[in-house]
Amino acid sequence: MIPVSGFTGHRVAVLGLGRSGVATLRALRAGGAIPLAWDDGPKAAETAEAEGVELRDLTRPGAFEDVACLVTSPGIAHLYPRPHPAIAAALEAGVPVDNDIGLFFRSLGGQDWGSFERPPRVVAVTGSNGKSTTSALIAHVLTEAGKDLQLAGNIGRGVLDIDPPGDGGIVVLELSSYQTDLARALTPDVAVFTNLSPDHLDRHGGLGGYFAAKRRLFAEGGPDRCIIGVDENEGLFLAGQLSEGPADDRVIRISSGRKLGGPGWAVFARKGFLSEYRKGRQIASVDLREIPGLPGAHNHQNACAAFAVARTLGLGPRQIEDAFHSFQGLPHRSQLIGEAGGVRFVNDSKATNIDSAKQALRAFRKIRWICGGLQKEGGIDPLLEATGEVIKAYVIGREAGNFAMQLKGTEAEVCGDMATAVARAAAEAEPGDTVLLAPATASFDQYDSFERRGEHFATEVEKILVAGSADQDS
Ligand code: ADP
Repeated sequence: MIPVSGFTGHRVAVLGLGRSGVATLRALRAGGAIPLAWDDGPKAAETAEAEGVELRDLTRPGAFEDVACLVTSPGIAHLYPRPHPAIAAALEAGVPVDNDIGLFFRSLGGQDWGSFERPPRVVAVTGSNGKSTTSALIAHVLTEAGKDLQLAGNIGRGVLDIDPPGDGGIVVLELSSYQTDLARALTPDVAVFTNLSPDHLDRHGGLGGYFAAKRRLFAEGGPDRCIIGVDENEGLFLAGQLSEGPADDRVIRISSGRKLGGPGWAVFARKGFLSEYRKGRQIASVDLREIPGLPGAHNHQNACAAFAVARTLGLGPRQIEDAFHSFQGLPHRSQLIGEAGGVRFVNDSKATNIDSAKQALRAFRKIRWICGGLQKEGGIDPLLEATGEVIKAYVIGREAGNFAMQLKGTEAEVCGDMATAVARAAAEAEPGDTVLLAPATASFDQYDSFERRGEHFATEVEKILVAGSADQDS
């Protein structure tokens, strides 16, 4: 645990008692603060009692009179579409609002750091898509290289839950826009911006607000190294703004699909090959084509980001390449569930927005596409340019009929539920086809989470795989 510093003897209110909220209560107490807890949910009293802290309704008048800071969870709206009433009350009372990430950065440096040979370093990853995969890949590569590594944030452990890093320790944090928007301290040593595409716009008051939230990771503390995906204007802008000039190697530009020139430091992937350039010369290359855990151009972008981080931390190109080969990928992201009769079944349930679904559709050939669910703002038209390899769509979700109608130019069957969609796709698939779950939507109309949706897909696929192997045996 990282004890929170700076609040000894002061009351700190914690709003939201999920995993990170409970970790925050404990870390505050360990640092000498007096935590108070509140959650709108039914288990609030139970959790507060179990943690031995005062339960205080933060929406009641005067609730913040003796409070030094409010710490809130990422799932709770702090500004758009409107602040949660407790956050509004804190702001009204002039009480600072922070989150566990802010507390983490202000509390990280321990007294023993002075005696370390190599101070611990924090790598933070943000972006619209690829954050988890990139964070996991960085963690894998550095662990393979024998580094003392902890993975935290949205993936792995809660940030305040990790062990205080030791000499040479590295912490890799995956940070969402909600987290970077609110954290009052953000001082990673290495920061990564993978890409930007519209998502969560309701929580950020539009695309400008969403980009501004992500950008804070680079503006607040000034990381020693910034690794920026420059395939969108926003990334290009950010890289330009952070550089002293074209040769400034505080910034490493990354791209999937474009050759990056110039005198600076760049890592890019084209046609399945990753290249590293410095001062106008190529200094390393990696063949990504046969790496099973990293299929598709989107994963090649993640590979570029992880490569750049590992190079920044002193690893050699061959060492990184070897580690790429043993990366298993993450569940629900281009995850191969199995193969039967020459048909592959791939679970990309995490494709919850248009851009991630587009990337998944571009990573495979001859696709029988399971899609649909709770649609996000903005419509699905931008998806249609990526449906070239789709033989047929099998549409799920409560609004499956409506979704199917929007798939202009693609044959679509309204299946409604996962079991029907998997069975229909498998029945019609021919050897060489890929049955791909890449919904392009949130899952909440039919599932608790994208994980449950992906697991349901996998269960239905397993039935087909078992039936297929039984056929072969008989
Ligand atoms: P995040 O943590 O940012 O949501 P994930 O690694 O969990 O990112 O991937 C989310 C979705 O985006 C998955 O559908 C995955 O296949 C897809 N994806 C992964 N990397 C990228 C990328 N670099 N660009 C676009 N989509 C990506």
